Amino acid sequence: MSITPITPELLSIVVCPVCHTRVAIDVEKALLVCANAMCALGFEIRYGVPVLLVDEARK
Ligand SMILES: [Zn+2]
Repeated sequence: MSITPITPELLSIVVCPVCHTRVAIDVEKALLVCANAMCALGFEIRYGVPVLLVDEARK
């Protein structure tokens, strides 16, 4: 099982739960990072699934 089976198709539908901006993947940190510079929250990818929870988001 791949660590990050995040596909471009998945990325194209995932948005930040806070500001509803598209997210980009940070492969090194295994994070999805909100593309909105004013928000820029990072969402952990846990077992290949992005954890899009505001409570668990990282600044
Ligand atoms: Zn955001």
